[in-house]
Amino acid sequence: MPRPALRSRKLRRIKTRTPGGRLVTHYEKRFASKPKCAICGRPLSGIDMARVKTEHIRGLTVSRPYGGYVCHRCLALGLRLAIRMSSA
Ligand SMILES: [Zn+2]
Repeated sequence: MPRPALRSRKLRRIKTRTPGGRLVTHYEKRFASKPKCAICGRPLSGIDMARVKTEHIRGLTVSRPYGGYVCHRCLALGLRLAIRMSSA
């Protein structure tokens, strides 16, 4: 029986063969889910997968305003809407 902290499903379990031939379970952090657009929910592109798999890693992201939060289609739509609302 593993120790109490490892009994929950918080960590993913990986079965690994040791050099001695034993099959042991390793506990690793789960991967984060792929970032999605806050408006339409489509998965965001242009984001480094290393950034998703490990926390606090500097990697490729989108440098546009709201990049990495809202997709390009929703941003274009939102900007157009904002300009129309301000001019009217
Ligand atoms: Zn979107």
